[in-house]
Amino acid sequence: MYEVVTLGELLIDFVPTVSGVSLIDAPAFKKAPGGAPANVAAGLAKLGTPCAFLGKVGDDAFGEFLKETLEGVGVNTSGLVFSEKARTALAFVSLRADGEREFMFYRHPSADMLYEPHEVATDLIKNARFFHFGSISLISEPSRSATLAALQTALENDVIVSYDPNLRLALWPSPVAAKAGMLSVWDQADLIKVSEDELFFLTGTDDLDLAVERLWRKHLRLMVVTLGKQGCLYYTHHFKGEVPGFAVKSVDTTGAGDGFVAGLINGLLKHPRAWADETELRAVCRFANAVGALTTTQRGAIPALPTQQQVDAFLELI
Ligand code: ADP
Repeated sequence: MYEVVTLGELLIDFVPTVSGVSLIDAPAFKKAPGGAPANVAAGLAKLGTPCAFLGKVGDDAFGEFLKETLEGVGVNTSGLVFSEKARTALAFVSLRADGEREFMFYRHPSADMLYEPHEVATDLIKNARFFHFGSISLISEPSRSATLAALQTALENDVIVSYDPNLRLALWPSPVAAKAGMLSVWDQADLIKVSEDELFFLTGTDDLDLAVERLWRKHLRLMVVTLGKQGCLYYTHHFKGEVPGFAVKSVDTTGAGDGFVAGLINGLLKHPRAWADETELRAVCRFANAVGALTTTQRGAIPALPTQQQVDAFLELI
């Protein structure tokens, strides 16, 4: 049995071999495993939580590389399927000198977009304690129906639903579609993690309390807003507050949010009282901040995600 099942995109990020250049100027690219829900699975496995990933890659060398990468960190991939109709998705990603991230996607379509409802390993979801997913697999059919089928399985089996709306504007047909699509499953989640930028995009206000109030739903038990190096805010039905982040030497923030989610879910599994006990929740958020911070201290997402021992050692030194 796997305590957490994550579902969604698994792809190759191609990152320039030198930093601070545009995609036009990049001399060469290095391949790195990517995809937010897959990063969360890897983060959980590294923290010692039994975890499975569900999704679809191409029946090609990159798909095989991604499967091996997830298995290498201990993620179960029995629910990862291979497409003969489309290639593994590629994203060329560059952090330009002005700090702006530049993306170029190869998804016309890519294998993850062709994930079908009948391919979802529902048995894994039924037996899990958490189901985590994002919005990218909701963008087009048939992966949207596959995601909704998985979500339905989780809801019918009292599996806790965790959702990361994860804004990737370039992948949606329009900003209006992005907003509607990201919000389309909002009512069904127990736990939502958003960033400040996403809250602003979804509500049009930079007053974070007001934005959370507008996006609060009856079913929701916990919303966490990540604030980059400043840490995070938490909101429940009964209390809200802020937990400061950690000052670290950041070299690459890729995957920080996914590491944070892994830390959060890991903490909630170990301390289920944190849903209702503010002191425990603050400790869980502190742990998640530590995972997020450590993820920024090395290049790439999966290689940088820390183990439980690394987080413990880091927190002991603070
Ligand atoms: P996302 O990657 O989704 O945009 P954030 O950048 O807000 O999310 O990062 C998620 C979490 O990772 C933060 O809440 C924080 O705990 C940690 N984190 C991110 N960037 C840094 C940083 N530069 N220094 C320390 N911690 C960071």
